[in-house]
Amino acid sequence: MRKSHNCKDVVSQFNLMLDGELNPKEEQNMMCELQRCMHCLQEYNLEEKYRKFIQERVQKKSCPSSFLSSLKNKFEQSKDID
Ligand SMILES: [Zn+2]
Repeated sequence: MRKSHNCKDVVSQFNLMLDGELNPKEEQNMMCELQRCMHCLQEYNLEEKYRKFIQERVQKKSCPSSFLSSLKNKFEQSKDID
């Protein structure tokens, strides 16, 4: 059974990911969750951290750079005021 999305859970998992506590498969799941729910990042001001995290991943080639640009688009779309 698939667990329903819970922002609090995702955020605590996210912090583990930043600490390098998650294995690559868990990281992938985490990124999918975050793509689904930008609210998690915005609510807890994690956008910046997440962006840096992805950037590092891209540099280490463990994440496609297309992922980073799609992420950037998402952040830009989600900002109404500028
Ligand atoms: Zn969420």
